[in-house]
Amino acid sequence: MRDFRSESFWLSTLDEDLALRPALEGLEEADVVIVGAGYTGLWTAYYLLEHEPGLRVALCEAGIAGIGASGRNGGWCMGMAEGVEPLLADPETREGGMALSRALFDCVDEVERVCEREGIDCHFKKGGTLQVARVEKQKEEQIAHVAQMTDWGFSPDDYQWLSESELNERLRVSGGLGALYSPHVAAIHPARLVRGLARVVESRGGRIFENSAVRQIRPGEVETDQGRIQADWVVLATEAYTAQIPGYKRRMAPIHSMMVATEPLSADLWEEIGLGERETFAGPELIATYGQRTADGRIAYGSRGLYYYGSGVRERFSPTDPIFEQVRESLISLLPLLRDVEITHRWGGPLGLPRDRTPALSADRETRIAMAGGYLGEGVGASNLMGRTLADLLSGQETDRVRLPWVGKGFSQWEPEPLRWMGITAARTAMDRLDKQEAAGGVPSRWMESVLDRL
Ligand SMILES: Cc1cc2nc3c(=O)[nH]c(=O)nc-3n(C[C@H](O)[C@H](O)[C@H](O)COP(=O)(O)OP(=O)(O)OC[C@H]3O[C@@H](n4cnc5c(N)ncnc54)[C@H](O)[C@@H]3O)c2cc1C
Repeated sequence: MRDFRSESFWLSTLDEDLALRPALEGLEEADVVIVGAGYTGLWTAYYLLEHEPGLRVALCEAGIAGIGASGRNGGWCMGMAEGVEPLLADPETREGGMALSRALFDCVDEVERVCEREGIDCHFKKGGTLQVARVEKQKEEQIAHVAQMTDWGFSPDDYQWLSESELNERLRVSGGLGALYSPHVAAIHPARLVRGLARVVESRGGRIFENSAVRQIRPGEVETDQGRIQADWVVLATEAYTAQIPGYKRRMAPIHSMMVATEPLSADLWEEIGLGERETFAGPELIATYGQRTADGRIAYGSRGLYYYGSGVRERFSPTDPIFEQVRESLISLLPLLRDVEITHRWGGPLGLPRDRTPALSADRETRIAMAGGYLGEGVGASNLMGRTLADLLSGQETDRVRLPWVGKGFSQWEPEPLRWMGITAARTAMDRLDKQEAAGGVPSRWMESVLDRL
């Protein structure tokens, strides 16, 4: 029997028993069937039922609701997403990029509104985010980045540079020279959000079948080992797992991010560290790092990024895997005060990397198969906007959301193996080397940077 609770710190701290809901058996009918009960699937169901109470919405989930990335992430509910800045950089797409950016800012508040309305206590705290600079080059780049954002029309209420002393008022990190700050991020307990959403969707009439991995998707139908659901629309909300579904192997590459959580820190340590507003924080590395102060006074921190040949997905990792020591070292290099603090939890999980590095949403009116995701590790907030937009589209609502640039863009195909593995592994190696050169105060190799750009 699979011990779901052991698969992330967040799942282990839920005060519910995680008992499986019944599996799909036999033939069922629905108006919309959603494959995958993570944030994307559940937000889609939530807004569909909001638009049309009584709509027959069913979800098929391979494990339990929230067992995917939604129940194991870093808990940054972000008003940002990959793919927005290229839109802003091009004058022809800037307006759409700005509309998407504003909609993403708003979705952080929307998550809070829904949680309040529906009684989901996900420890939501909108303390913003700090992206720390630790060498001069990073400082210059971040100051230039804020200037660029201002040029595109953002204000200091959206993005600002904090000087070293301003950073120290919020967070004392080793060698911190300042930070890029944005208020549009909240720290949450991710599993409480996804499990709470599942309960709300059920209370509104949505049906969730667990332990029901979908093996085949056809127009108007999904099939599991023991049953089928026929529906007017089929929605694929499987993000990093999408490559495991026949016919979708090259749509998404699963990348694994790894996390650790400390024991609860003493009041003295918190006094020294800061994060009084539970600001989320990150280092400046190319291989993303991300941390938050949890509501129970720990630090949850993640990093790395592993790809397994053939788009393999892993959900369970040995706590003695050396990768966790690398994540801990990364945390200690930012906060050396934590050197003697115990790491009590170690886990990881897959996130979806689309070929063009941009989240997307497609809803094909002919096949009536829709698909959404590809957030590159930034889907906690964005999935709310995605699910809401998908619900608008499927129920024929002409909102501003359905005109956002990521709608209808579709998902391009990844290269077949071994090219996919070679490309992703080479990019990761280049990022790792550049990070190490920069951390050592050296000048990053231009050759390596250009290789990375091409990859
Ligand atoms: C370690 C880690 C840290 C992260 N940190 C952050 C962060 O701090 N902030 C942020 O914004 N994003 C973060 N992310 C990314 C974020 O968690 C995801 O973008 C988001 O959860 C995606 O939600 P989803 O519903 O699309 O996918 P998922 O939550 O992965 O849901 C997909 C669901 O589909 C199910 N499934 C798969 N195959 C099938 C099948 N064949 N049949 C039925 N069901 C199936 C899975 O079991 C899963 O429950 C992180 C991800 C990871 C792994």
